[in-house]
Amino acid sequence: MVAGHRLICPHCGHKTRFRYDTRPVASRWRHLDLGPWRLELAADLRRLCCPTHGVVVEAVPFARPGAHRSRGLDDLPAWLATRMDRSAVARLCRVSWRTVGRACERVVAAEMDPDRLDGLFRIGVDEISWRKHHKYPTPGGRP
Ligand SMILES: [Zn+2]
Repeated sequence: MVAGHRLICPHCGHKTRFRYDTRPVASRWRHLDLGPWRLELAADLRRLCCPTHGVVVEAVPFARPGAHRSRGLDDLPAWLATRMDRSAVARLCRVSWRTVGRACERVVAAEMDPDRLDGLFRIGVDEISWRKHHKYPTPGGRP
């Protein structure tokens, strides 16, 4: 069981002291490897009745809702993916290629500001060409 008396809805942050029940099986999350050892977290989680979302499993501070990986194992591959190719990230973190993509999706959905493009009114795109005769890969490019 996660420490704390208040249960928090993972979707809206609603807090309550009343639990609906306790899940019969422990929830498990994979965390960053500890040297050569694979590290897994386990906890008996409670469920709460949120007025908006109904009966849901309580939020935990170390993992995003619905993820089977800890925040650390989501954040590290997502950060590494901005600096190296996906296959290298998968091998370094000892996760599958698809897991790297899912980690990036979760981090972007949770951490990026949805209003970051407000006020943007113009985007400039530069053409690339190949060979010496200015051939452009897009149809609108110069011949
Ligand atoms: Zn809720």
